Amino acid sequence: MGFNFLIFFHFILQLADELIVMYSGEVIEIGENIIKNPMHPYTVDFLMSLPENGMKPILGKALSPTEDIKGCRFFNRCKYVTERCKSEKPNLYNISGRKVRCFLYD
Ligand code: SF4
Repeated sequence: MGFNFLIFFHFILQLADELIVMYSGEVIEIGENIIKNPMHPYTVDFLMSLPENGMKPILGKALSPTEDIKGCRFFNRCKYVTERCKSEKPNLYNISGRKVRCFLYD
């Protein structure tokens, strides 16, 4: 899995459970209910690659976190990639209480 990993934050008072998803060294999605309702294309693909979801592999290879590129770090594996994705870095966009680093939500 390389540098792809999930970090769970569980607040002591259980006021909220927040998930942070990272890909290739950067945060790509933050929010609640991400497992039930993933929004970033990588999060969707990652969840579909789990055994309970049929182990559908994510095509292509992750960029090294040290590789300096202009655009989205998932561009070479994303089924929704556009020219903008290759030349411009997406921000973390606020959408429905979620933060998602993807131009689909700009
Ligand atoms: S910004 Fe573009 S390449 Fe990156 S995840 Fe979104 S659609 Fe895919």
